Amino acid sequence: MIEEIDESVWRVSGAIHGPIITILGGVHGNERTGIEVVRRLRAEIESGSISVASGTLYIAFGNLKAIELNKRGSGIGRDLNRSFPTNLLDQDSVDSYEDQRARELAPILQESDIVVDMHATNKPSEPFVACLHSDKHADAYRWFPCTKVLTDPRFVLGGRPVTTDEYTEAHGGIGICYETGLAWDVSRIDEVYDNVVNLLRHKGLVAGNPIESRKCTQDIFEIVEPIILTPAGFRYTEGFGERSWERFTTGTTLGWHGEGKEKPVTANFDGVVVFPKPEENRHNGMPVGYLAKQVN
Ligand SMILES: [Zn+2]
Repeated sequence: MIEEIDESVWRVSGAIHGPIITILGGVHGNERTGIEVVRRLRAEIESGSISVASGTLYIAFGNLKAIELNKRGSGIGRDLNRSFPTNLLDQDSVDSYEDQRARELAPILQESDIVVDMHATNKPSEPFVACLHSDKHADAYRWFPCTKVLTDPRFVLGGRPVTTDEYTEAHGGIGICYETGLAWDVSRIDEVYDNVVNLLRHKGLVAGNPIESRKCTQDIFEIVEPIILTPAGFRYTEGFGERSWERFTTGTTLGWHGEGKEKPVTANFDGVVVFPKPEENRHNGMPVGYLAKQVN
């Protein structure tokens, strides 16, 4: 039986002991595919179309206020996926709705063996996985089709461990973020739902054999540095900032700080631009995108 253990956090346990897996959608409220996959997963379990035979499955919506608003966060600059410092539950202060929601979700992340947090990008991108890279991680993310894995072992993204996958890793689990594509593209809901069910089958939670998806060879990338927005402003050079995975070579001018082209941002390695921010998500002192390099 599926039970709601906290607001929009559900648990269903099998009769046999087994792994604990959490599936999250809507940690960013405008990223629709993950939200719909969680909704469908819950409906299929409630109707009995699929059942959990062993282990425990948690499914949850992330940022409830942001989902209602169809926005990234509950307010300007708010971000649930930067709200999970490793010692979250030891801290007293709750500054925002995101802080509060992170505390509600933290216990299931701490308990989980695997967490799959479904995201999507605000600029076009092929689907990709963001997590640490190891055989154990690959055994979980192989069910999610992609040709690229983005790792961030030095915590460039948040400056310190603050994302759901990083929080999971800090508490002994495997944390995976699956970027399903563009935020408002809902054409992959069925496919991503199948990906999730295949992982659950592979780990024995759901009965039946997983259906092997097409084999992908993955290129592994590592985030090297952010481009930080200064009060002077920033604009990308034409051809950059429009999508993730734009390739550049050493010496390429990627953009300019300042309207009058005062200070160029020049690449000092061969790499790619990832997570370029649209205008509305740019905030002073915060990244407008990240530079990553291939490491395999
Ligand atoms: Zn996201």
